Amino acid sequence: MSDAANRPHVRTQAVWAGEGGVFMGRATQVPVVHSVSFGYDDLDEWKAASLGEVPGHIYGRNTNPTVAVFEEKVRVLEGAEAATSFSTGMAAISDTLFTLLEPGQRVVSVVDTYGGTNRMFSEFLPRVGVEATLCPTADHDAIEAAIDEAPRVLYLESPTNPTCKVLDLARLAARARSKGAIVVVDNTFATPINQHPLELGAHLVLHSATKFLGGHADALGGVVAGDKDLVESIFRRREITGATLHPEAAYLLLRGMKTLALRVERQNANAMTVARWLAARPEVADVFYPGLESHPGHDVAKRQMPGGFGGVLSFQLHGDFDVVKRFLPRLRWAHRAANLGAVETVVAPPATGSHVELTAAERAALGIPETLVRYSCGIEDVNDLIADLAQALEASRRGA
Ligand SMILES: *Cc1c(COP(=O)(O)O)cnc(C)c1O
Repeated sequence: MSDAANRPHVRTQAVWAGEGGVFMGRATQVPVVHSVSFGYDDLDEWKAASLGEVPGHIYGRNTNPTVAVFEEKVRVLEGAEAATSFSTGMAAISDTLFTLLEPGQRVVSVVDTYGGTNRMFSEFLPRVGVEATLCPTADHDAIEAAIDEAPRVLYLESPTNPTCKVLDLARLAARARSKGAIVVVDNTFATPINQHPLELGAHLVLHSATKFLGGHADALGGVVAGDKDLVESIFRRREITGATLHPEAAYLLLRGMKTLALRVERQNANAMTVARWLAARPEVADVFYPGLESHPGHDVAKRQMPGGFGGVLSFQLHGDFDVVKRFLPRLRWAHRAANLGAVETVVAPPATGSHVELTAAERAALGIPETLVRYSCGIEDVNDLIADLAQALEASRRGA
């Protein structure tokens, strides 16, 4: 985000936001406070802190000083009034949905949401009498028609997993606001370096911090930021459901976030170069990346992702799944794993990863080819990534 005179650039905020406190022994780095409880000699002060009338931590399930710095950094990066954190991204998503939705109410979303989120819509919300209307992902007319039936919540992701479809967040948020719906956006794929859903009209933005925010695939976490009253009500639930972010994880995520801008800028650049290169390869049937001019969502992405198009792309190989089986093990510079957004490149075919529980026919119905490969660019040198892809593609074509 290139910003007005008095707000520092997001690159500066990633390093400094939340870090200004006076910590034990005048430490310049945020300490990991493992203490479960926080003691008060003055009973009046204890009571006031318990009631939230004065600042102060009481018990680790509720708040913790290390965790609070993590929340503050995300709050600033997302330009939000408030933020609260969770043990995982799915805890953030499920606590948010269960807080906002009551029996008899409806949520509108798209079919291409993250797998766990999709299970919320198909299984856990219907069980408590909440109906989910899942629209074809890039069909804005269908989504608007569903919004016009006045749901309580509009829940969006952009770009989506695994085929990197783009939703026009400003357009859909405006429509939802006109109908009185609460707009929630999962910004995990885009990151606050590339996209600011709150500026585009969302009430709440959430993240699996496990991915790009942490960036090192060594800590789970989740976070919700946005409207103060909504965040407060979600926090009140999380205090009780207990899906609290661990201080050690908060520290790892904070440490990762200092380099968020550096990493994401490199990952954006790597993904753009890799996508262009793959698009010209004979072994590749299709490349899905919003940065490509041929992508149907390119114009919208250019407008709503001023920082870049993200580090994740996917591509379809010619042939059958045996080609994928030959290709993937050949990659030298990639983990074959169910993750994304890490400093290392991570690859996974949806057929064995994110969409493994579906049949081939169900994947086809979602527009997910059997030979699709999701490629989450790390921060490696892009020439090494391309050389690696080249040798693996050639070997898989030879049938080696
Ligand atoms: C990974 C992911 C989640 C879930 O996050 P966890 O930290 O694994 O619980 C939610 N949304 C998106 C887009 C994700 O990639």
